[in-house]
Amino acid sequence: MTTKPKLGLVFFPAFDWAIAPDHPEREERLLYTRDQLREEGLLDLPEIKEFRPRIATRQEIERAHICVPSVGKVCTESHLIAAGGTITAGDLVFSGKTERAFALLRPPGHHALRIVHGSRGFCTINIEAVMIEHLRKLRNGRLRVAIVDTDAHHADGTQDIYYNDPDVLHISIHQDGRTLYPGTGFVTELGGPAAYGLTLNVPLPPGSGDAELLYVVEHLVLPVLRDFKPDLVINAAGQDNHFTDPITNMKVTAQGYARLTELLAPDLVVLEGGYSIEGALPYVNVGIILALAGLDYTGVREPQLPHGIKKAGRVDEAVVKNVAFLQEIWAKRKEIDLEEVFGRGDYFRRQRRLYYDTDDIHEFQDEEIKICSSCSGYRKIISYAEDYRRKPVRIAAVLLPWHACATCQQEAAAAFDRLTAEPAWDYVYFQNPAADEAPLVSRAGRRAR
Ligand SMILES: [Zn+2]
Ligand SMILES: [Zn+2]
Repeated sequence: MTTKPKLGLVFFPAFDWAIAPDHPEREERLLYTRDQLREEGLLDLPEIKEFRPRIATRQEIERAHICVPSVGKVCTESHLIAAGGTITAGDLVFSGKTERAFALLRPPGHHALRIVHGSRGFCTINIEAVMIEHLRKLRNGRLRVAIVDTDAHHADGTQDIYYNDPDVLHISIHQDGRTLYPGTGFVTELGGPAAYGLTLNVPLPPGSGDAELLYVVEHLVLPVLRDFKPDLVINAAGQDNHFTDPITNMKVTAQGYARLTELLAPDLVVLEGGYSIEGALPYVNVGIILALAGLDYTGVREPQLPHGIKKAGRVDEAVVKNVAFLQEIWAKRKEIDLEEVFGRGDYFRRQRRLYYDTDDIHEFQDEEIKICSSCSGYRKIISYAEDYRRKPVRIAAVLLPWHACATCQQEAAAAFDRLTAEPAWDYVYFQNPAADEAPLVSRAGRRAR
């Protein structure tokens, strides 16, 4: 009789893809980890089994994104495999083949926004969102998900995709945006009108370590998860909070990450950033894998661990204050007067300027959400940017949420028809998670697919 493995691992180092050969986001990030796992004999344990990633389809990418002009033009095969491998990990847990899964792949994804003109913060495709939309589709949208993002950078892409989604709770714990890319993720960013309080951001001051990270998990994340009761908990596990990371200023250790994993007990872990290729990733990943497999991780030693690194003790006061603020928001989120936050009227509107640092693209976005009492409301987004040939591109998109009411469905279809008749747009997109194909109309007015 064979027992079911506790943990499935999906590896994809993307050998043939890099932003530049000396860029910190490169294949060695995963190769050292793999060597370490082999050396420790972890791949021989009955609790742990390795699986091969698959390639995500265009349709799977389009459930989470609107790629301009198309999936094929912004993605390489490596992006499709990173997204597909994350889906593989999700399927392992959903089908019950393994109890939990850890997707160790690259390129990462949590800075990729819903609309994709190119790459930001090393990310083009939001691999967690593609996986979540795939799993939701399998359940006809009846799935409550919690994403806890513990990368040192604010998960602005994931926040953007889910900020008005009442079935997805998104908590991001990260180095304070005043001191690190992407410069967002403050406690006042709390979600859209249909999901207010379901976006929670916990900025940590530079220099925060295990004590601060674990304090947030114990005092905020775990109680909120107990309340929200998700069907699935996903940890977007960036490892760039580590004390050796070259691009951040944090002091988390491998033991801290392992303890975090044990406390959080996620169903799925997806690797995000982490650029200390030899000093952190092998040890942090071993710690996380042991914790996920229910094995003892206290023996994981880090050769570079300096003496006197703060492991426990007093938690930075700013963190205690932020946690207290968010605890109160969470407790009162259903009583908050949304008209006071989002204004009166039938639509909530936001305008933003976005920057794709990796590809040097500037975008302007104007978004309108229908305030609807029967569903979370359809959306209309217009976006101006430069396309992959650096030519200006102007697009419009109409988005339906999961479980859209009949009125929103009709109004969204009418808005799409109106937009396609206007000559201003190079492309007009329609995104409907409940449908199998999303129409796309190009300037010529013909159906592009
Ligand atoms: Zn990061
Ligand atoms: Zn509606």
